[in-house]
Amino acid sequence: MKPRPIRCLVTAGPTREHLDPVRFLSNPSSGKMGYALASAAVAAGWKVDLISGPVSLPPPAGVKVFQVVSAADMLAAVEKRFPRCDVLIMCAAVSDFRPKKVISHKVKKGNAPLVVKFEPTVDILKKMAARKKSGQLVVGFAAETKNLEAYARRKLKEKNLDFIVANRVGRAGAGFGSDHNKVTLIGRDGTWLKLGLAPKAGIAKQLITRLRNYFAAMICF
Ligand code: C5P
Repeated sequence: MKPRPIRCLVTAGPTREHLDPVRFLSNPSSGKMGYALASAAVAAGWKVDLISGPVSLPPPAGVKVFQVVSAADMLAAVEKRFPRCDVLIMCAAVSDFRPKKVISHKVKKGNAPLVVKFEPTVDILKKMAARKKSGQLVVGFAAETKNLEAYARRKLKEKNLDFIVANRVGRAGAGFGSDHNKVTLIGRDGTWLKLGLAPKAGIAKQLITRLRNYFAAMICF
C-alpha cells in the first residue's frame, strides 16, 4: 500500500493589526521564505496548506492558500487545520502586539489619538505546540537582529518546538524581503544544520529534506 503523503501546514508573510480601516501595524515580511517552503514541500510529494498574510506573491502551484490579515485571523486558520497536519511550519512574521482599540472609521488628522495602547497577540506557535500529539512536528522561526542562536535555542525550549530556524534580520542581502537567506536549523535533539547564504528556494529545499529525513527516522524507530 502506498503511504499517505505528509500533511504540511505552512504560515507565511506578515500580519496587519489595524488601528482604523486605513492604518495598521505590520512588518516588512515579504512571504518569500514561507512560499518557498510550501513549494519545496509540494515538490517533496507533501500535501500543503498555506496560510498567508497580505503579500504580493502568486499562489505556489499545487498548494491550497488561505488568505488572512490579522494575527487573530491567522490563529483561527491555524487552529482549524492544525489537528489534521503532520507538520506545522510557522514561518509567518506574526505581529506580537495589536492596538487595544480598533476604530471603525478613518480617524481624521485633527482627531488622531497621539498615544495608542497595545495589547499582546496570542502566540500561535506556542499554543499549537502545547497541543501537539505524538508524531506531529512543530517548527518555528526566530528572526533576530542579535544573539541569534542563543535566542533561537531559548525559543525552541520555551515554546516546546521540535525545530527552530534561526535567521538574522535587519541586514541587507538576507532575511526580510530578500530572495536570499542564511539560516541555522536547530533541533530539540541537539542537531544543527547551518545553511550559508543561498536563494530562499534552495534553503527551503534543504529544510524540507531535513524534515523528511526526520519523519522517515520516526517511522523506522
Ligand atoms: O517570539 P517570537 O515572536 O520571536 O517567535 C517567532 C516565532 O513565533 C515564529 O515562528 C512566528 O511565526 C511565531 N509567532 C506566533 N505568534 C505570534 C508571534 C510569533 O506564532 N503572536
